[in-house]
Amino acid sequence: MFKALVVRKDEETGKTSAAVEEISENDLPEAEVTVAVEYSTVNYKDGLCIGPGGGLVRKYPHIPGIDFAGTVETSSDPRYKPGDKVILTGWRVGEAHWGGYAQKARVRADWLVPLPEGLTTRQAMAVGTAGFTAMLAIMALEDHGLKPGHGPVLVTGAAGGVGSVATAILAKLGHEVAAVTGRPETEDYLRGLGASRIVPREELNEVTRKPLESETWAGCVDSVAGAMLGRVLKQMKYGTSVAAVGLAGGAAIEGALITPFILRGVNLLGIDSVMQPYDNRVRAWQRIARDLDLDKLEAMVQPATLEDLPRLGAEILKGQVRGRVVVDVN
Ligand code: NDP
Repeated sequence: MFKALVVRKDEETGKTSAAVEEISENDLPEAEVTVAVEYSTVNYKDGLCIGPGGGLVRKYPHIPGIDFAGTVETSSDPRYKPGDKVILTGWRVGEAHWGGYAQKARVRADWLVPLPEGLTTRQAMAVGTAGFTAMLAIMALEDHGLKPGHGPVLVTGAAGGVGSVATAILAKLGHEVAAVTGRPETEDYLRGLGASRIVPREELNEVTRKPLESETWAGCVDSVAGAMLGRVLKQMKYGTSVAAVGLAGGAAIEGALITPFILRGVNLLGIDSVMQPYDNRVRAWQRIARDLDLDKLEAMVQPATLEDLPRLGAEILKGQVRGRVVVDVN
């Protein structure tokens, strides 16, 4: 028997409720690799899946947790053996499949990546899906020409998970980082991560009718979308790129016009972490181990246990979580 956060649905009322329960290994789904989970995290999607599911969860009872790191216990796949340290992010684990909010998880070998040298399982989950996605976004900007010295790189939703890790990595790589936040009280935190400029959210979240604004940003990691992305596109320097990661501010790109694309050659790069191919996952984790200052990572961490998850799930949906939550499932 082991502990797990189980979400159950009352068929009569349609309401869901989440609580820590003891479950048996026989309850786990069929798959090649059983992992003794050490750490998981809290992402926006986790908030949805701990709550009513947001259309992501297919079947109840459900174990959420879209990412985890731990040690292989048993494996019928030759790529993994007992004792190997592994990370899982994406592949709809924690949504369509049981996830990491348990002391054990059983998953497909294809979904795992080996823990990179230089990171512990706890550090890997301090990075988590949010930080992994921030790295994918930075790699995409680099692949499209971004180099230190080109000018300020804007990070929106900077005090959130994706934004915090993006800020720390970009600063370590030698970029000037401008951090957009709606929480002025996070200024010291963001400067500590390496932001050299704080941009209040109100400066960017109003829709304008202007076709273009002055060329300001050499790159952008955007986890907000909405009106902010519409504005930011008009402020990009000639030939630069925005990596679109999330929709914390809305699913539409409000006020967006074609002008930045056709008059300034601006690129909008879509970033998906869920179905990312294996080789690029390994590349991103190796870059994280090399390019993220681990002291700064530690400054982002808020420790938690399985029992804290119902509260934290509700908080992340309201944009109230700062940095990265690391859930010690044991
Ligand atoms: P967090 O909740 O940790 O961070 C989001 C941040 O966005 C908040 O902290 C806040 O930053 C800002 N924000 C929230 N609401 C608004 C608003 N209405 N207007 C403007 N800014 C707002 O989430 P994550 O960092 O984990 O994820 C960010 C987004 O990226 C989510 O939409 C998530 O679903 C998505 N995502 C996408 C992935 C992919 O594969 N593409 C993978 C991981 C996440 P501040 O307080 O500093 O203003």
